[in-house]
This record gives sequence, structure tokens and C-alpha cells, in this order.
Amino acid sequence: MNASTNPPITLRDLAHGKTTTTASIRFQPYWWEAAPRPATDDTHCPATCDVAVVGSGFTGLSAALTLLAKGRSVVILDRGVPGFGASTRNGGQVGSGNQKFKVKRLIALRGEKKATELLLEGTRMLDYIEHLITTEKIDCHFQRCGRFRAAIRPEHYEAMARDMEDLKRIAGVESYMVPRSEQMSEIGSEIFYGGSVLPNDAALHPALYHAGLLQRIQERGGVVVGQSNVNSVSRNGGGFQLETSKGRIAARNVLIATNGYTANLSSALSRRIISIGSGLISTAEIPADILSRLMPKNRVYGNTNRVFYYFRAAPDERRIIWGGRAGRGAQATSLALYRHLARDLLTVFPDIADTPVTHAWDGQIGYTHDEFPHLGRMADGMHYAVGYCGTGVSRSTYFGHKIALQMVGDPAGRTAFDDLAFPAFPVHPIAKRAVPVVETWYRFRDYTKI
Ligand SMILES: Cc1cc2nc3c(=O)[nH]c(=O)nc-3n(C[C@H](O)[C@H](O)[C@H](O)COP(=O)(O)OP(=O)(O)OC[C@H]3O[C@@H](n4cnc5c(N)ncnc54)[C@H](O)[C@@H]3O)c2cc1C
Repeated sequence: MNASTNPPITLRDLAHGKTTTTASIRFQPYWWEAAPRPATDDTHCPATCDVAVVGSGFTGLSAALTLLAKGRSVVILDRGVPGFGASTRNGGQVGSGNQKFKVKRLIALRGEKKATELLLEGTRMLDYIEHLITTEKIDCHFQRCGRFRAAIRPEHYEAMARDMEDLKRIAGVESYMVPRSEQMSEIGSEIFYGGSVLPNDAALHPALYHAGLLQRIQERGGVVVGQSNVNSVSRNGGGFQLETSKGRIAARNVLIATNGYTANLSSALSRRIISIGSGLISTAEIPADILSRLMPKNRVYGNTNRVFYYFRAAPDERRIIWGGRAGRGAQATSLALYRHLARDLLTVFPDIADTPVTHAWDGQIGYTHDEFPHLGRMADGMHYAVGYCGTGVSRSTYFGHKIALQMVGDPAGRTAFDDLAFPAFPVHPIAKRAVPVVETWYRFRDYTKI
């Protein structure tokens, strides 16, 4: 019996932990149905190149496109098949990253001038990804559908309204508030206290976007070598030597684009990034009338909690894609890891409890200590662009482009992020073990509105 003929597991079953079999669920991203992953990759590793890029997600591919346009030969190496990481696993919500900090907090941290530059650059990231998708003609359902951010508590609504005013004043970002009395026009749920709409935020199909970038790179002579773990990088004359599981490669420059999958390749980077898991589920298709009542404007959605959930409809099918924190446990194919996602979904949309769950998957987010993404050049000469803290679809695309320009010495590569110090976690192994503690603290804080 295959996945489709097994008795379905409904959202109610999953939320209540009433699951004796996992057979009807595919433990892989729903997105991979439209852009299947190859099981293996037999591409050989060339002996030399101008730039070796470690990591084949949006950062690496976007950088490669720019480097190829500048006449450099590029080899992209990934320990998994191309696109193994977060770039084909995410929720496909495309934002600017400007909501990571409240504007007042950003000003307190960085001063008004720098805060303004950072916020303006966030808006440019959103514009850049649209520009790239349009000019490269990538068919990935990119749409400026807007984002509805739901207030979990009444005071969150007020705080958000003030923050949106600041955002407009400082960086000209358009938004509007929708009070609780009118929120049914945005979301078919009673549980929120109104919310904000960012009409310029967008959605895309992440695996189709990734596949489109990959195709453009291959058309232009870039080499993407999957299943080639980079074990070490060392200096070699004026360049670098990379030891990979598919052989040795000499490169003039190296870009580390491993984000949430960063391990020990560079000790400087591994002390500056921790990986936090995020999980998603997809439902089966929902009747059109019900879906348009739940998501009348077909936006992307989130809420005001720190440990938050995010959701949207699939672009071409009437499914709900629902994400949140990853469950804890060793077995990625254990349904218990996704139970809380079904529980949260049914808190918001209780009417669809009988809808089957078809896919469940997870991925790794790269978090930095100061919660800013970082790009630049390390003391050993390697370049990096990492640390998108969960808002990475536009930011990784933009950072990939910018770091590539910096690598070829093009002044257009400058960003407002260049001069931010990149702090290490005080004691990285402890920070890693502390991830669940940090999440529990955030949840407690959400609950008690500290
Ligand atoms: C579940 C989930 C949901 C998300 N949802 C959203 C969302 O809705 N909106 C949004 O804006 N952002 C979202 N994000 C964040 C976003 O997906 C990432 O920030 C972005 O994809 C990062 O791209 P990247 O290219 O830097 O890294 P990745 O796509 O993670 O790629 C890194 C690659 O490096 C490879 N690698 C690591 N070490 C080595 C090595 N030694 N040798 C060779 N290869 C190596 C890995 O195999 C991996 O493929 C989400 C992330 C996750 C995990």
C-alpha cells in the first residue's frame, strides 16, 4: 500500500496524538512534489575554479549567478543533493526582515541613522528578489500577496500599530491596521485581536524558485556538485584548497553559504551561528469555499509571538502549509514531532479538524547572537553570508548577490550590514544545548507578556 491508499491521518488525529501508523504521511517537503529531488548526484568535482561556493541554497545560487555574470568560473558544492537545506524546505513567505526588531528597539540598538539604512535595505531585498525572478523568468508563483500579522493579545495590536507608524516615518514602509471588529475580512478566525497588513510582502514556491536558479546557473556554465561534503578548506598559495568527499578542488576564492547547516568547516563561523529547527505540515486540499473563508485575501500569515507560527495556502492547490517550531526528538519521521503544529492550526481554524495531513518536514534556521544577518570576509580570507534568523528567502538572495559583488571588488556590493560587528555566542556548545531553554523562555514571555 502506498502513501495515498493508506487511511488518512487527520489534523484532529495528529493534534490528539491518536496515530498508530504514519504510513499516509510523506515526511518530505510538500514543495518537492513539484520539484522532485534527485536521489543521487554523480556530477564530478572539477579540479579548479575561480570561486568555490559551499552550500547550494538561495545564498550560494544567487551569489553564483552574480559571479558568473562577472565572468568568474564557479563550482557550488553541497553535502546533500542540490537544495538539500532550508531553501527548498521553507514556508515560501517573502518579507523584508524589517519586522525582526521593533523600530524603537532597532534605533536604541543602532542609532536612528543606521536603523534607517538597515530598514531601507530590507525593502530593497524584497525588491531585489522580485527583480531577479522577473528578469530571470523563473516561474515560481511569486506574488505580492501581502502579509497579515495577527495580534495574539490586545496590547500586541497597539504596539504593532505604533511600530507600523514608526516604520512608515523612518523607512516609508506601507502598512495598515485591521481592528478585531473587521478581521474576518483578513482571516476566518475569532482568536486574534486584529492585526497589521504589509501589502508588499510576497509569497513564492520555494522549490520551484530554487530549481529556476539552478537551471539558470547550469545554462551559464556554473557547476553544481551535490553529495560533496566539504571536509576542510586550507590556504594554498594565493588561494584555497578544499578537500571534499568527491575530491580536491583549488579555488581562488571561497564563499561559505551554509547558514543553518553550518558545522565545523570554519571555527570562526561555527561560534557565530546556532541552528534552530523549524517544522511544517501540509494538509490535503480543502474545499474552495472553506479556504476562501479562512484566508479571504490569500496572503501569507504570522502572529505576534516570538516563538510563532506561520501559514499560507499552497500557490496552486487548496492546501494549508503550516509551520512553527520543530518538535524535539531524534526521529524526523515521528509524528509526535509535528503534533503541536496540528494543535496550533486547530486553535486558529477549528472547523477543518477532519482534513487529512499529507506532508510533514523540518529544516534548520541559522540564528546569530545579535539576530542580524551577516556577510563579509573572515580573517582567513574566506567570504560568508549567513544568519537570516528565519527570514531568509529575500535576505539570502540579496546577500548572495551582494557578497558576490564584494568578492569581485565591485563597490555596488556595499550594504548597510557591512560594518556590523559579528558577535560570537559566548559559549557556543552551551548555546546549542540551550536552544530548547531559549524557546521555552520566549513562550513563557509570550504568555505572560513580559
Ligand atoms: C522550515 C523552515 C521554514 C522557513 N520559512 C521561511 C519563510 O517562510 N520565509 C523566509 O523568509 N525564510 C524562511 N526560512 C528561512 C530560509 O529558508 C533560509 O534563511 C534560507 O533558505 C537560507 O538559505 P541559504 O542558502 O543561506 O542556506 P540553506 O538553503 O540552508 O543551504 C545551506 C546548504 O549548505 C550545505 N552545507 C552545509 N555544510 C556543508 C559542507 N561542509 N559541505 C557542503 N555543503 C554543506 C547544506 O547541505 C545546505 O544545503 C525558513 C527556514 C526553515 C528551516
